[in-house]
Amino acid sequence: MNGIYIHVPFCKSKCAYCNFFSLASESRIKDYVEALKREIIYRKDYLEDEEVKTIYFGGGTPSLLPVESVDEILTLLHNNFDIDANPEITLELNPDTIDREKMSSLKQMGVNRMSVGIQSFFDDDLLYLGRRHDSNHALRVLEDLKNVNFDKITLDLIYGIPTLTEEKWDKNLDIFFSTGISHLSAYALTVEPRTILGQKIDKGDLQEVNEDETIKHYQILVERTKEHGFEHYEISNFAKEGCRSMHNSIYWSDGKYLGLGPSAHSYDGKSRQWNIANLSQYLKLAGNSDDCFEKEILTLDDKYNEYVMTSLRTSWGCNVEKIALHYGIKYADFFLKNVKKYVESGEMLINDNNYFLSENGKLFADGIASDLFL
Ligand code: SF4
Repeated sequence: MNGIYIHVPFCKSKCAYCNFFSLASESRIKDYVEALKREIIYRKDYLEDEEVKTIYFGGGTPSLLPVESVDEILTLLHNNFDIDANPEITLELNPDTIDREKMSSLKQMGVNRMSVGIQSFFDDDLLYLGRRHDSNHALRVLEDLKNVNFDKITLDLIYGIPTLTEEKWDKNLDIFFSTGISHLSAYALTVEPRTILGQKIDKGDLQEVNEDETIKHYQILVERTKEHGFEHYEISNFAKEGCRSMHNSIYWSDGKYLGLGPSAHSYDGKSRQWNIANLSQYLKLAGNSDDCFEKEILTLDDKYNEYVMTSLRTSWGCNVEKIALHYGIKYADFFLKNVKKYVESGEMLINDNNYFLSENGKLFADGIASDLFL
């Protein structure tokens, strides 16, 4: 399965915890759209005529794009790629950048899945995170999306915020369940040193994240989503039956994807490419030169490590037969030898030839994955 990711690097302002490539300015959106259109044509052969099942507008804040630009981008993609007759087309939105009319227009253009950056339904948490919207605004947007008949909606929530007590986290989940939305992405707050949040915590102006509290929030999350019939199909992702993100599943299943826009990554099964994370340079180079991206040819070790890292995050896990078939017996033997201690400790479980993390093991996913790297 193949997908196309479009990175839209504009936001109204920078959230305190944000570590993505995004600029707190909308002044160059028009130039960006022109550069993106050039890049679409320049890279039209990247997926080698294989059918594209998903298109994902991520950011940044894609809901800042004018609807006419979304339309132009989608038309150009359809003209230059073999797009499935009924692709999953997702657009990330922030509550303060969209109204019902814009939602309706996006839907008419074929956008059929909305990813809403809610983060918390409590204003003090939103203030801590430096988000622009408040809780009432978030609820209004969810209501509007339903009235416009978006049936595929996913929410982003963040836990581990120092202002978020266990009771409040429970309440956040209650509100989420009450919306009837069928997909949730929930992330632990991570504080990167160069972010506004990292600097404020360093200076002692904001409270630090408490790891034990974050683990408790995670346990509540796992328990409550299970009670409500959600499948925990990736460490940070929960879905009702048939409602998994097709696009993100491509990343986790070794699928190919083309990333367009500054800082976007691409993967074709043989190499990785990443676009320049600088808007001025992107505007100059996109669609004109290979200097717009860097490229790394993957070794067999890289591919095996990548497979272990991504598949271990999923509920279907790592398949040892697939390791033997795709990478060789040496890799399968190495995996089996090293995975043993995690099976014995109960951090990993086995189903046929699939090895996957138990709920407890998921807390240590990164460490376990790197221990299984060659
Ligand atoms: S809206 Fe998203 S991309 Fe933009 S600043 Fe906030 S976290 Fe970063």
